[in-house]
Amino acid sequence: MKYYDILVLGGGASGVVAAIKASEKGKQVAIIDKANKIAKKILVTGNGRCNLTNLNTTEKQYNADISQFLNRFGVNDTLYFFDSIGLVTYADEEGRVYPLSNSAKSVMDVLTNKLSAQNIDCFLEHNILKVEKWDDNFLVKTDKDEFLCKKVIVSLGGNFTTQILDIKGINFIPSLVSLKVNISRNLSGCRISDAVVCVEDLHGNKMTERGEVLFKEKGISGICIFNLSSLFARNKKFEGKLRIDLMPNYTGDTLLEMLQKRRSLNVKVNKFFDGLLLSQIGYEILNRIKLDEEKSSLNLTEAEIKQMASLIKNLDYDITGCLDNNQIFAGGIDLAQLTPNLEHKTIKNLYFTGEACNVDGLCGGYNLQWAWTSGYIVGENI
Ligand SMILES: Cc1cc2nc3c(=O)[nH]c(=O)nc-3n(C[C@H](O)[C@H](O)[C@H](O)COP(=O)(O)OP(=O)(O)OC[C@H]3O[C@@H](n4cnc5c(N)ncnc54)[C@H](O)[C@@H]3O)c2cc1C
Repeated sequence: MKYYDILVLGGGASGVVAAIKASEKGKQVAIIDKANKIAKKILVTGNGRCNLTNLNTTEKQYNADISQFLNRFGVNDTLYFFDSIGLVTYADEEGRVYPLSNSAKSVMDVLTNKLSAQNIDCFLEHNILKVEKWDDNFLVKTDKDEFLCKKVIVSLGGNFTTQILDIKGINFIPSLVSLKVNISRNLSGCRISDAVVCVEDLHGNKMTERGEVLFKEKGISGICIFNLSSLFARNKKFEGKLRIDLMPNYTGDTLLEMLQKRRSLNVKVNKFFDGLLLSQIGYEILNRIKLDEEKSSLNLTEAEIKQMASLIKNLDYDITGCLDNNQIFAGGIDLAQLTPNLEHKTIKNLYFTGEACNVDGLCGGYNLQWAWTSGYIVGENI
């Protein structure tokens, strides 16, 4: 059995920062992770570029009010921290911060180098099975070994279960994820670069986002869809309605006028949208109105033109679930159960960071910002 002052369970973004800060305070720290590399997940973030924070971060991008934590370790502190460990960064026009190399590996490398410089032991390929209280200590059992420590930092992301740690209220649900809707086969693979999408859950809560929309085999994706999925994740049910405005730069009236004029193109209706919409989208609209494809545009009725305009502004779908490409998990231990230093209020010496806490943010670097913020605060104050 091995003994440490502090064991960090999970060497992801938040766990690594917590370990670095705690060891700077002179504590004997070790990280345990089931992966074969530290902070491996960082490699897939930001499409391999790692969008590590966002200059526009406020508590508004999160489900919970984390302003007290951002005030103690915010975006500027994150930039300073990464600068101090050798990472050069830049921000794009939307405030998203990336490593100058545009490679997520740079972020992983500087964190790993800092762990080595601090002589922090990392037990990799250790699957954590159980954490138990042992008098004033904690016993951590993995599939390879047992560890004893005074303090535990739970940084297991959305993977930690009550089997590992017997604790209430940690139901995780996928978020920042594609939405499951019934897509007609010919739409699969279609990409709309600028759409406005509005969703509504079963309680009538609504959310609207603008951006790129991708039609997939079993659902609908894109950054704006990921953000919209958080409405359902936070309410713990992926059911509701989704409406897409395919031409947000045109009002309903201007679009109607434009379609009325297109009658004179004198084409069969299956060619009516050529030059205006992607052919698959045009086909979808004709299909929904059930128009005879051989009909001439000259004979389109006013009602048919209005139906077309209405579908272009409001292509609607029923949301029946989510797909399995979630970026984060919503849920986790509620901040109300934790002290301002993220220590459990009733189980002393047990701390939580990152996604293990019930804090979830939108796309754009906000989730990693919470990982750095929570990891730093725990490491600094443990
Ligand atoms: C594809 C993708 C892209 C993303 N892109 C971005 C982005 O660009 N910007 C952004 O802000 N956020 C992004 N995120 C979200 C971000 O990665 C997470 O919010 C962040 O990593 C959470 O940090 P964490 O420390 O809480 O958990 P994690 O980073 O998930 O770390 C948890 C660690 O625990 C380990 N672990 C879990 N269970 C066990 C066990 N039983 N035993 C041992 N070890 C265990 C895991 O191996 C892992 O290393 C992305 C996520 C994904 C999936």
